[in-house]
Amino acid sequence: MSLLPETMLKRKKIYVACLSGLGLLVLLSLYKTGSVKTTSSGAQDCFFCDFAHHKQGPPPILEVETNEFVIFKDKYPAAKYHYLAIPKEHLDSFSVLNKSHVGLVRRMESGMKEFLKSKKVDPEKAIIGFHIPPFISVKHLHLHAIYPPSDMGLGNKISFMSSYWFKNSNDALRELEKREL
Ligand SMILES: [Zn+2]
Ligand SMILES: [Zn+2]
Repeated sequence: MSLLPETMLKRKKIYVACLSGLGLLVLLSLYKTGSVKTTSSGAQDCFFCDFAHHKQGPPPILEVETNEFVIFKDKYPAAKYHYLAIPKEHLDSFSVLNKSHVGLVRRMESGMKEFLKSKKVDPEKAIIGFHIPPFISVKHLHLHAIYPPSDMGLGNKISFMSSYWFKNSNDALRELEKREL
């Protein structure tokens, strides 16, 4: 009996085990990111909407507030600096956006970058972007900004790496420009 097929089978098994381990890590870290509670019925019982509109607490401290968006610290920071920018208007996720949202996303991104600078963080060295459904922890659009990446554990590194589950803001804006209205 040749050993070859068995070796190949073993390799395949290891490969599958690695892949499922990776998937599990992504899901676990997403669960810890953002918040535990997810809403299924949109704006009605969306606690991010409550945060943005100063409704029932305990709300996080709003570090930045404009007429369009707010910025606050992530409840489960992946690194020393981990902030979220969310629009005041309820939008489920990056998937529901179109070309008309380019301006909003640009202003959220530049607002976040200015805020990072005020914290003496170089925005070019931070991880800034969106999770893509179904890999979202809260069903209200939120832009992550994380620094330094070296603080992040393996699970978060995977969760926030440029991939089909996480889009950095440059790629996100490029994609929005191409979407229909
Ligand atoms: Zn909302
Ligand atoms: Zn996220």
